[in-house]
Formats: sequence, structure tokens, C-alpha cells
Amino acid sequence: MIAVLKNGTTDAQIENLSNWLKEQGLDVHISRGTVHTVVGLVGDTAKIDAELLESLEIVDSVKRISEPFKSANRKFHPDDSIIKVNGTSVGGDIFAVMAGPCSVESEEQVMEIARAVKAAGATMLRGGAFKPRTSPYDFQGLKADGIEILLKAKKETGLPIVTEIMNANHLPLFEEVDVIQVGARNMQNFELLKELGRTRKPILLKRGLANTLKELLMSAEYIMAGGNENIILCERGIRTFETYTRNTLDLSAVPMLHELTHLPVIIDPSHATGVARLVKPMALAAAACGADGLMIEVHNDPAHALCDGAQSLTPDTFADVMKATRQVLEAVKEN
Ligand code: PEP
Ligand code: MN
Repeated sequence: MIAVLKNGTTDAQIENLSNWLKEQGLDVHISRGTVHTVVGLVGDTAKIDAELLESLEIVDSVKRISEPFKSANRKFHPDDSIIKVNGTSVGGDIFAVMAGPCSVESEEQVMEIARAVKAAGATMLRGGAFKPRTSPYDFQGLKADGIEILLKAKKETGLPIVTEIMNANHLPLFEEVDVIQVGARNMQNFELLKELGRTRKPILLKRGLANTLKELLMSAEYIMAGGNENIILCERGIRTFETYTRNTLDLSAVPMLHELTHLPVIIDPSHATGVARLVKPMALAAAACGADGLMIEVHNDPAHALCDGAQSLTPDTFADVMKATRQVLEAVKEN
């Protein structure tokens, strides 16, 4: 349920209303937008007398929210959310670009790639330390040592780091990680989502291989229900019957999610296509359709990458993609 407040409502009045609603056992979210202040109510709103609420002096209108996702709902928070990440952000005017290798393989590899992606304009460094591999015999990542390497690269380049978590027990290792990634395979690992809801870390939540947008938003809701509202959504392609590409990039997810939610949405054209030469056209399309950023795999030696070499860009190609992306962003900018 949401209550839209009249213009000119004071902070003291909002606090009184909020306390009254909390006394009735509800969670209260206040969103002070550019046009209206919206009070979002989560919990058992059946016991709220909507007519009584609407009759209050400061309340303009009251609406029940039919969607099962509440905190993530655009109706709760009409303005775009901007997720702050250690000196940069995702959402709003910043086009975030998270770039780096699929997996952290060595200190030299990460340092070389980190310097190159920074020079090309990436805003964050990505790299997997814990890798969710289809085969248990494939490289599983450098784990804690991989995180140490990413932290060294962060120290040298100043780029915030993004890396995937697979087990909530590993959370202490992520203390200095700037954005914690939940991979496609863990999008519905609800116990992990609940643990992440107890932190205040920015979470990059990737869409599952065969999940609907509603399910993605419900997973975001799990994290938000715990009090962590710092969520970045990522479309990374879904399973279809197509086999020429690794997945099928659902670009319509971007404008659809922007309608449904205030959370920023980025595109991962690397995992979506699985083919390095398709990354540029899909990155440009993502920029054109309003994505808030990109996640791109970059490797200094793709042919010898321990994971996902076929979809990894060289630093030079990445720089070219960045340049072209900036041109598209400029061309579609709303004045
Ligand atoms: C990744 O980003 O390295 C990754 C494993 O992605 P996804 O979860 O989208 O497959
Ligand atoms: Mn990968």
C-alpha cells in the first residue's frame, strides 16, 4: 500500500504518520521524490483502514499495490534509485561499466587488465574469485587469494571491485569488496539473499538462467526486506532454444524493469552472447535502450583464459567498445 502525501507536508507530520503506522506493525518506507513524498507500507496492510488513512489532512491519496514486490516497486519510490559505490555510483546520470576477467587467475593478469580497463574508462573492476562452474573438474577460482588480488588492484587503480559470492559463510572475506555479485545460478538462493539483506553492501543481482522479471524482482525484494536497498539488477541473457549464442539477451528487460522498479539495471553482453564479437553490438544496444551500465569480460590473453575466453574482449577491443558506447549515450541523451 502507498500513501501519497500532499505538497508542503512537514518532516514532523511525516514522522508522526510514520510512527502511527509502525505502531500497527508495518514497515514504513519514506520516499521524498522530486514531485511527491510517497509513504510505502510493507507487511500485513489488510488491517489498515485505507479510508481512514486517506482522510488524514496530509494524505493526498492511498493505493493498494497489487504486485508482490513492494520495496522494489517503482510506485513505492517514483524516482530512480542511485546506488553509491565507494566514490562512484550506479543509476542516475552515471553510466557504470564493470570490466575485468571472468576469473582472477594471477596478480599479474589482474593488474594488467585493471590498468587497461581503467584507462579505457571502466568505473569498476570485476573478477571472479569464487567461480560457479558447471563441471566440478573445471577451475573453481582462487577463492580468498583471488579476493586479495582484487584488493591489491583496487588499491593501485582506485577502481571499486565487484566479485561473486556463492556461500554466505564467505561473507567475512567480502568486507572490503565494494559490490557483491549474486550470480545467475544463485538468484533464488533465498538463504543467501536473506544474509545479504542483513548487510548494507551494494549487491549486483543477476537474472537467473530461466527466471522471469517478476522472479528477479522478488529476489531483490528478499534482500530489501532485510533492510538492504542497495541493489543493482543485471540482465545477462536467458535460456532459449537458440544455440548460436550462449544465452538470449532480453534487452526488453531494460525498459520493462525501469517501469516496474526504481532499481538500476545493467546489461552483461558477455554472458548473454558467449561470443566476443557480439559484445560490442549488444553493448551499444544496451546503451541505446536505457541501461544504467554494462558488465563486460576483458582478458589480456583470451585464448589462454581459464574461463570464458571465447566471450572475453582484449583490452584494445574493450577500449573501442567504450568509445562507441559513449557516442551512443551522447546520441540518445535526453535534453
Ligand atoms: C560471472 O559474471 O562471472 C558469471 C558467472 O555470470 P552469470 O552468473 O551471469 O553466469
Ligand atoms: Mn564468465
